[in-house]
Amino acid sequence: MNLVDYLRVSLVDRCNFRCQYCMPEDAALQFLQQNELLQTEELLTLLKQVMIPVGFSRFRLTGGEPLIRPDVVDIVGEISALPQVQDLSMTTNGFLLEDRAAALYDAGLRRLNISLDSLNPETFGVIVGDRTQKRWQKVWSGIQAAYEVGFNPLKLNVVVIPGVNEAEVLDLAALSIDRQWHIRFIEFMPIGNAELFGERGWVPSEEIRQQIRERWGLNPGFVKGNGPADVFQIPGAQGTLGFISQMSECFCDRCNRMRLSADGWLRPCLLNETGQLDLKTLLRAGHKMEVLRDRVQNLLLLKPEINYKERESGTDSTYGRTMSQIGG
Ligand code: SAM
Ligand code: SF4
Repeated sequence: MNLVDYLRVSLVDRCNFRCQYCMPEDAALQFLQQNELLQTEELLTLLKQVMIPVGFSRFRLTGGEPLIRPDVVDIVGEISALPQVQDLSMTTNGFLLEDRAAALYDAGLRRLNISLDSLNPETFGVIVGDRTQKRWQKVWSGIQAAYEVGFNPLKLNVVVIPGVNEAEVLDLAALSIDRQWHIRFIEFMPIGNAELFGERGWVPSEEIRQQIRERWGLNPGFVKGNGPADVFQIPGAQGTLGFISQMSECFCDRCNRMRLSADGWLRPCLLNETGQLDLKTLLRAGHKMEVLRDRVQNLLLLKPEINYKERESGTDSTYGRTMSQIGG
């Protein structure tokens, strides 16, 4: 059985972008009210007194967009100071990073994943719902700032969308040659957005790898915290290329993670709501921490069965909530 020690923690369900594949502008989005979010003290209590004692030691902060949470730097500082925390990372769209990179680093964050689906400001604008087309530059400046501050590894996430950015995969892969940047190609998933998922809804990772092999060749690679990504390297490159192929390959067998949503639901499987636990309500109801720990322990025991349920049923139980709501 896999050791499940990695928790993705969503700090907020809202976002300053409207990516087509996550929160399309025309979707009827419903967001949490302030009092429905886990408050910072509640979040820290859950991590310190429940999640860490049952064995979680690696955490990723995500959202929505984690950098829009006003006290994000304080949260990073509190978590990174806990002696049991072996790894703390963040996934961000990078829009607010230029001003915050140094403070996040000083607060103890060392690993960052930044979403960058295109090198073309116009295409980028189409993907993230930015008519001004000015956002690309700000994200790019955020990436540079993070690189200069010393984030390592620095990973760039690319969701490959047929007919939108798929022609750019070689240009994006080339970013890994001269810098220690790690580019990760993610197969687009029909999560809360099935209508966008046309006839050729996603580009299989192997198609991208083939293009890269033909251009430069491709060796096996390694990068810290590769999770579900298969990692490769262009011969002689400083960075690596990762492929997250949840559509073309099932990696339930290797799954080592759970997700805590911004409203305090602990979710054992991204694609399946079975067993999810409302930790916020249990906490606010005043239950003893021991009770919460027992509930999480039980969920850990059930997790393999819950993963296989998804795999065997091939259902779309999944796709009611978007990645931003689940804590992608
Ligand atoms: N706002 C941050 C960002 O975009 O990096 C963090 C949250 S976002 C939900 C986390 C990751 O999920 C991003 O890399 C995003 O590209 C990915 N994502 C969102 N919707 C997706 C989808 N339908 N298929 C594949 N990846 C998706
Ligand atoms: Fe926001 Fe990230 Fe979702 Fe894009 S993928 S809408 S940046 S949460």
